[in-house]
Amino acid sequence: MKLSYNRTKIVATMGPASTNKETLLAMIRAGVNVCRLNFSHGKTEDHQKTINTIREINEQYKLNVGILADLQGPKIRIGLVKDGGIHLVNGKYINITTHECIGDDHRIYITYDTFPKDVRANEIILLDDGKIQMRVIETNETDTVVCEVVHGGILTSRKGVNLPNTKVSIPSLTEEDIVNLHFALKNDVEWIGLSFVRNAQDIVDLKRIINAEGRAARVIAKIEKPEAIDNIDAIIAATDGCMVARGDLGVEMPLEEVPLLQKMIVQKCRAESKPVIVATQMLESMITTPRPTRAEVNDVANSVLDGADAVMLSGETSVGEFPVIVIETMAKIIKNVEERGYPFNTTIDHVNTVPDNYLSDALCGSAVYLAEHTNAVGIVSMTTSGYTAFEISSHRPKAGTYIFTANKQLLNALSLVWGVRAYYYDKLESTDDTIADVNDVLKSESLVEVGDVLINTASVPITKKGKTNMLKVSVVE
Ligand code: PEP
Repeated sequence: MKLSYNRTKIVATMGPASTNKETLLAMIRAGVNVCRLNFSHGKTEDHQKTINTIREINEQYKLNVGILADLQGPKIRIGLVKDGGIHLVNGKYINITTHECIGDDHRIYITYDTFPKDVRANEIILLDDGKIQMRVIETNETDTVVCEVVHGGILTSRKGVNLPNTKVSIPSLTEEDIVNLHFALKNDVEWIGLSFVRNAQDIVDLKRIINAEGRAARVIAKIEKPEAIDNIDAIIAATDGCMVARGDLGVEMPLEEVPLLQKMIVQKCRAESKPVIVATQMLESMITTPRPTRAEVNDVANSVLDGADAVMLSGETSVGEFPVIVIETMAKIIKNVEERGYPFNTTIDHVNTVPDNYLSDALCGSAVYLAEHTNAVGIVSMTTSGYTAFEISSHRPKAGTYIFTANKQLLNALSLVWGVRAYYYDKLESTDDTIADVNDVLKSESLVEVGDVLINTASVPITKKGKTNMLKVSVVE
């Protein structure tokens, strides 16, 4: 089957390698749908320039590239250590202190004031992406924790700390996150990523701030902690989307569990019609080489087959040497899987979290069924809230999903959602005229041809802008 566009979306992290307008435009032409601003790196002025460039490209080329502002959350780090790093030897003891100092063979500083109070003997401390492991011997519950080195190595300044067993008392939104959040909201970004989510309340708290500012940004919960896995159903119910953040997840949880956790999270998100991104190390070797490893190609392909809405690139596009080639490579892998072996129209047990929506849910499911059984090339829907788009997409239809809306913010937000192509449409003619109109738009864009079958969904009467309640089979004239 020939598809006219890839269904699985690409999220690219912005950085010095990708923010130049020509490069970014080439990346977008090669397949980028959403740009991720990683607030763990870069200055506010840099993020502002990047946002301006993305908006400029959207305006100039009539595109809907979305922005995901990813807040760092309570990332814990060690402080500076002496030049050349410190050599941690297996079996030796070392103190972790909450007093700022230059680390040496006896003590290292941690950026987490209440660490001695929160930690317990025998808990595990992982440093530098889990490369170094320590075990807690004792804590004075004030300012010092004595640890034994389990797997040593050279430790250099400012490396990340993961505490898989510790109940970390730092709030999910740090002061720095709040500043970055206000900046992102002021710029009307479509998606906000929240790191180290632990429970549904973290999402509720973030949404309260977004609503108080009168913004429409949607939330992506980054799943990277064992507590998030324990609370996954409540988190998915509270959030607008999730990210399988395999970098930290693979440090906080046993690495071998990550592949099945990925499948579990993707399935649960689809069942609730919430977009899900698979992230980290997807084409990692392409940071420095123009060809990926075979294992990486398999990883991207399998994530597509798992049913992810989007696959994400981090260092590959932010600091890598081949930001355009990496997007071309990812797009080719997606295209091949989707054309030759994608499980389209798969039934999924939908979780109905909003009982009022059961009629429109059934109608969207029927639209996908009807499209499959009429060999329709597209499902064409009008939506104001976006609900219909998320719902239809969750069935992963083989027919294209073409969404028409007068909600400008939604146009870019939908760039993350599997299979959706969104168009601005603000006329409120009769239902018949509107359907004829939107079908004509697809014809003029050469996405459909005379004789093609389309499934139209709408809400009648059209002026009421109510929930989707109508299905029509049309043949393009
Ligand atoms: C991850 O841990 O996989 C991730 C995406 O988070 P970050 O890049 O913010 O560390």
